[in-house]
Amino acid sequence: MSLRPTVDFLLHDWLKVDSLQSRARFADHSRETFDAVLDTCERIAREKYAPFNRLVDTQEPHFDGEKVILPQATHDAYKAYAESGMLSAAQDYEIGGMQLPYTVEAAANAFFAMASVSIGSGMLTSGNANLLMVHGTDLQKQVFAANEFSGRFSGTMCLSEPQAGSSLSDITTRATPDGEGFEADALGARYRLKGNKMWISSGEHELAENIIHLVLAKIPDEHGQLVPGVKGISLFIVPKKMVDTDGQLTGERNDVALAGLNHKCGWRGTTNTLLNFGEGKYPVRGEAGAVGYLVGQPGEGLRCMFHMMNEARIGVGMAATMLGMAGYYASLDYAKNRPQGRPTGAGGKDARQPQVRIIEHADIKRMLLAQKAYSEGALALALYCARLVDEQHTGTEEDADVARLLLEVLTPIVKSFPSEWCLEANSLAIQIHGGYGYTRDFPVEQYWRDNRLNMIHEGTHGIQAMDLLGRKVLMENGRGLQLLAERMLATAAQAETHWAPEAAALRDALKQVGQATQQAWAGAQPAEALANAVPYLQAFGHTVIAWIWLDVANSLGEDNSPAAQGRRAACRYFFRYELPKIGAWLNVVCSRDPTCANLPEEAF
Ligand SMILES: Cc1cc2nc3c(=O)[nH]c(=O)nc-3n(C[C@H](O)[C@H](O)[C@H](O)COP(=O)(O)OP(=O)(O)OC[C@H]3O[C@@H](n4cnc5c(N)ncnc54)[C@H](O)[C@@H]3O)c2cc1C
Repeated sequence: MSLRPTVDFLLHDWLKVDSLQSRARFADHSRETFDAVLDTCERIAREKYAPFNRLVDTQEPHFDGEKVILPQATHDAYKAYAESGMLSAAQDYEIGGMQLPYTVEAAANAFFAMASVSIGSGMLTSGNANLLMVHGTDLQKQVFAANEFSGRFSGTMCLSEPQAGSSLSDITTRATPDGEGFEADALGARYRLKGNKMWISSGEHELAENIIHLVLAKIPDEHGQLVPGVKGISLFIVPKKMVDTDGQLTGERNDVALAGLNHKCGWRGTTNTLLNFGEGKYPVRGEAGAVGYLVGQPGEGLRCMFHMMNEARIGVGMAATMLGMAGYYASLDYAKNRPQGRPTGAGGKDARQPQVRIIEHADIKRMLLAQKAYSEGALALALYCARLVDEQHTGTEEDADVARLLLEVLTPIVKSFPSEWCLEANSLAIQIHGGYGYTRDFPVEQYWRDNRLNMIHEGTHGIQAMDLLGRKVLMENGRGLQLLAERMLATAAQAETHWAPEAAALRDALKQVGQATQQAWAGAQPAEALANAVPYLQAFGHTVIAWIWLDVANSLGEDNSPAAQGRRAACRYFFRYELPKIGAWLNVVCSRDPTCANLPEEAF
């Protein structure tokens, strides 16, 4: 099975990505240049990633007392990815970029995520550099971002602390001005940071010359107190090794020390670290404290960081999606080859007949179609969101604003739907393999373990749900939800001729979501409204994916190829087996059901 025909169909036949060539920014591009990028990424993923996916799972990163050791394959994959130019694909020509539409970049990165999600595609590095391109000074862009785009330096995001994960307002890492003239440092106002950062992905390794940490910390007020809440949070560039204004290493180590590696359930190809900032292990100019350069204004740290987090959320959704897809392909292959059982005829089973392959059983087909519907639907949504990012950056002022608002509403979905349902897809892939699926002799258990992370990082499922129901559907008087509804209704209208029952079901689902949104907030009590935010998120996500599938089905026209038949079946499956679930999810939202919220602790 190859992913490429699916990607080509979604990009060209469905999303009409070639139309972006009419934008000045993408004028040099064509189907040929897009294909060349996809070909290169597909090849590197096949040669440098896929063969080592199991190896990086079994050879976890380890610390030899001095350095973090990763398999050679990870070094080779990192080098090949950096050399492909993908780290700076979306950037301007002047700084070595390709001015590639984000839609094509996201599609190209899908190949890496499917081949080996944890060897890594540099999502954090390019996300880190992209943030600096928006919020950094010219010199910060030159010294840090440019070297990240070339792969010479790699990047991290350091938000979480041992005692502060979902609740970032409670971080306690402190940043104090670094002596006389701290504000005049050419690299940005210079501070000394002290604190611990937990769960930092790619926080320590030898893949690149330097690691550029983007760190959230609080600048104490005039009484030396940390300002409560998110308003006190600022953002700093903290290089692992000190650099000069030409981006050269000065030879001095910054005061950032690895306190330990986390040993994870999956995603083991990437290091995950507890980092101590400023504990004095590597004093700079004889003093404890990690040197950090302020990005943007004091107190604006979280706002700046959101630039990276939104990109990262689409990236996480894509990673979850591609793990779902990898499991689908593996279980499809298995189901086509495994003989087991016989069909039940009118007179029962005939044991004298040879066994059939399990793909001939209806229940196996159900599990395959569920995986296809979840994973391909999620991939379509991720590419749709990526297309909105391009619209936001290159569309007319009005279109860009519409894209911005649609992205606000869809970001929690593009992150959460694949995290939950492509994980379920992985579980079904294991199920199709029977006992073999539960062993390490087949790849599907690793896909499930790798995927289990995605409901946790970049905002847990619960946090995404509260963001959606508590903020996104309400913002700007519900205009984002309204815009999304208009797009769904347009798809339903177009589906009237060939897909009338599905068009009606989509309209009904949309109505239910709208009513639930109102009823959740009818008491104007946030605690009541948000107590069932996750069922709301689930119903919202299913409605969005139903819409996406109907839109894909609309685009098939008279095509009756096996691929088109498969897409029509996935659409039908989603409407018949999945969409009806939203009734149960939304019931508890509408009634603001207190069963869970009101249960006293002692009753558990
Ligand atoms: C492998 C891995 C990689 C990571 N990479 C990074 C990284 O590179 N950089 C980084 O900064 N962080 C990273 N993280 C951290 C990740 O973002 C956090 O784990 C996540 O934000 C949750 O924080 P926590 O683990 O402290 O859990 P908690 O915040 O303690 O949450 C525990 C549970 O409580 C729920 N909960 C918390 N608050 C509320 C509330 N107000 N209402 C309802 N429910 C609530 C959560 O939804 C969750 O189910 C990574 C984590 C992992 C596991």
